[in-house]
Amino acid sequence: MNFRLKKFLSYYKPYLGLFILIMLCAFIASSINLVLPLLARYIMKNVLVRDTPEMLAEIYKIGAIMLGLVGTQAILSFCVDYQGHTMGAMMESDMRSELFEHYQKMPFSFYDDKKTGMLMSRITNDLFSLSELYHHGPEDYVINIVKFVGAFVILFNINAKLTWLIFILLPIMGIYAFYFNKKVRIAVKTNMERIADINSQVEDTLSGIRVVKSYVNEAIEKKKFIVRGKHFLESRKNRYKSEAYLYTGMSSFVQLITVVAIVFGGASIANASLDLVDLVTFLLYIGNLIEPIQRLNQVTMQFQKGIACFERFMEIIEKEPAIKDSQDAITLKDVRGNIELKNVGFKYQEKQGYVLKNLSLAIKSGDFVAIVGFSGAGKTTLCSLIPRFYEVSKGEVLLDGVNIKDIKLSSLRKSIGVVQQDVYLFVGSVLDNIRYGKPDASKEEIIEAAKKANAHQFIMKLPNGYDTDIGQRGVKLSGGQKQRLSIARVFLKNPPVLIFDEATSSLDNESEKVIQESLIALAKSRTTLVIAHRLSTVRNAKRIIVLDENGIEEQGTHEELMAFNGTYAHLYNIQSRI
Ligand code: ADP
Ligand code: MG
Repeated sequence: MNFRLKKFLSYYKPYLGLFILIMLCAFIASSINLVLPLLARYIMKNVLVRDTPEMLAEIYKIGAIMLGLVGTQAILSFCVDYQGHTMGAMMESDMRSELFEHYQKMPFSFYDDKKTGMLMSRITNDLFSLSELYHHGPEDYVINIVKFVGAFVILFNINAKLTWLIFILLPIMGIYAFYFNKKVRIAVKTNMERIADINSQVEDTLSGIRVVKSYVNEAIEKKKFIVRGKHFLESRKNRYKSEAYLYTGMSSFVQLITVVAIVFGGASIANASLDLVDLVTFLLYIGNLIEPIQRLNQVTMQFQKGIACFERFMEIIEKEPAIKDSQDAITLKDVRGNIELKNVGFKYQEKQGYVLKNLSLAIKSGDFVAIVGFSGAGKTTLCSLIPRFYEVSKGEVLLDGVNIKDIKLSSLRKSIGVVQQDVYLFVGSVLDNIRYGKPDASKEEIIEAAKKANAHQFIMKLPNGYDTDIGQRGVKLSGGQKQRLSIARVFLKNPPVLIFDEATSSLDNESEKVIQESLIALAKSRTTLVIAHRLSTVRNAKRIIVLDENGIEEQGTHEELMAFNGTYAHLYNIQSRI
């Protein structure tokens, strides 16, 4: 069996018992639908004609049976609706967890060319359509096929000629329904795309509201919004038009078929080939014949949509994470922090050129090494290779003499602390955000870390101290404060290897000094790799490496490089003049 089909069906597995029960309920409920007109026919044809005193009693008896059937059907339909939707929701939830887990396994490169909004809609909207399909698909097919086939068989047995007459009209109706259902579906899809457009426009404007206001560009934003609003309105008009065609058309067909049945049925009664009761029975069954055509059309559309969503789901699930633990990956114990890059080459994409070429570099445990170079030289890239955020294209990276590909990702990444220019803080309190460095840390440990990071004082001045909510991405904090929280986080994590990537670049001199202090405290007795563009901050490094597009251009201590009078000396002299 096709792998994707197998996977599709596999989500039913945990709920197989429930699924069979729902199908059974659906089958019985739709069969009852067919039995009720038959009982009515029995009363008219067999009971009413008798004209005996027992007649009334028998009518009540059949009435009671009918009542019982109606009650049973109500209970069964309730079960199908409630349990069916619940089953769909549970399956959806399983798939959502699987997808979420998969997302977290994917490496940086996956996120480089995927939009977050798209990944989000995969996990919400797409899966919702799928759960509807999982539940409605099988159930609606059962219900409507039973209704349709049953009604046909029963009518055919009552009067074949009239049945054929009605049947000739059904394909026309089927085609009509198919055509307009498709139009409605396309309109709904356009509708959804246009509302998504509005959403992203609003999101963009609101996220950039500070820029909008400072440039006084509200009018431009409004114009963009109005254009999208108009598009949405147009697509809604289209949708309502198609829907009106569909629904009016369908109810007209029902009436048309009823009229045909009455006229030809009446004529048949006139020439005595049909009796009145059979005509009434016919009329009672017409709904059972027509409704399934509309429903089956809808379900088929839903099926197509669900399948498309499932394909998209599988496209991601089938993508093996490019970076994962090898089979015999080891856990490093007591990491000392010796880092070595051997002939490392790296490019972000196959088609692109190498960002790093044949780079070799050894950093001994406990060393404080600085990397400098112009913007775009590949400093950040180099740093991302060490925690294996990206995989080297050539050569190897070693930690304590072990190729990082042979170390468990969790073990490797727990040994490395990264402090970057952009700090990402999660929604929540100050405490939550520092605790991110060590989820089981006690409050005392957290305060200790904050003190080491020079953050304790400002935290205590916040309205609720450590419990202060920091807002989305920490908007309620200054750049320097955010950076201090991120440093506290790393203090708590306590890794043997540190990477500072322009950690102080966006800060003012005042905060830079404070943060520099805490960084130096953090770096004590750890292997530290610092990237900085303000060269005065790396003067004291044990070794300074100057990187350019061809690799390491020069390296040495500050004094050595100044004496060498190359790129570093040149850059340093320019900066100290400013
Ligand atoms: P630096 O940190 O030295 O300023 P980077 O390491 O960030 O430089 O970038 C080195 C080069 O790699 C640049 O030319 C940049 O355009 C490219 N680059 C950086 N990140 C990516 C990425 N995620 N995908 C593709 N190219 C990238
Ligand atoms: Mg950089």
